[in-house]
Amino acid sequence: MNILIFGPPGAGKGTQSVKLVKQHGMSHISTGDLFRNSIANKTSLGLEAKKYMDKGELVPDPVVIGIVEESFEKLKGQGFILDGFPRTVPQAESLEAMLKNHGLTIDQAVFLDVNHSLLLKRLTGRRVCKSCGSVFHVYYQPPQNEGTCDKCGGSLYQREDDKEEVITVRLKAYEKSTNPLREYYQLNKKLVVVNGDGSTEEVFEQIEKILQT
Ligand code: AMP
Repeated sequence: MNILIFGPPGAGKGTQSVKLVKQHGMSHISTGDLFRNSIANKTSLGLEAKKYMDKGELVPDPVVIGIVEESFEKLKGQGFILDGFPRTVPQAESLEAMLKNHGLTIDQAVFLDVNHSLLLKRLTGRRVCKSCGSVFHVYYQPPQNEGTCDKCGGSLYQREDDKEEVITVRLKAYEKSTNPLREYYQLNKKLVVVNGDGSTEEVFEQIEKILQT
């Protein structure tokens, strides 16, 4: 099964992808993680992406498509999950072409639908481990010791783009550029809408049901 997960920022794409990878051993590409790794490694691509990410804007399509192309080999041979890519219709069209070149297809495009006020609460409370990247939440999944990762003891931080002023820009970018993907995948008969308002486990159960059909 090859799937992609899309939706507004804070919908739980990353959380659900990690659970799917754990459950099914699928390959996983998260463009957000790829950019954050490039930033941590201070590559020129990372520095370029950071300019947009810190402001809450989308990274330009050619940069995103380039980084996905580089990771494409990873997707061969087993099921995969694309998390946060595509985020625009031109990216979706490029993805079609890349998949075709590699003899691959997407089976389902899972849209995580989440109520607006819940998105704000999820995003502002998110905390990430500087060392291992594990994700916590001040309300929903607080670490045992405030500010410290339960898994590796690393310190937790708030992503620059999870600060309130930046979130507003991200949500606008989502409305303008990513929301049209719903229609794109509906026309392609790949769209599956999942209510993402529930707990991590509830949403995961719904996704699992879909994958089994
Ligand atoms: P995420 O971790 O998926 O929330 O992504 C964090 C940020 O990385 C986004 O707000 C964008 O600035 C950038 N980004 C990640 N994926 C994409 C994409 N497919 N297209 C454009 N920008 C992206």
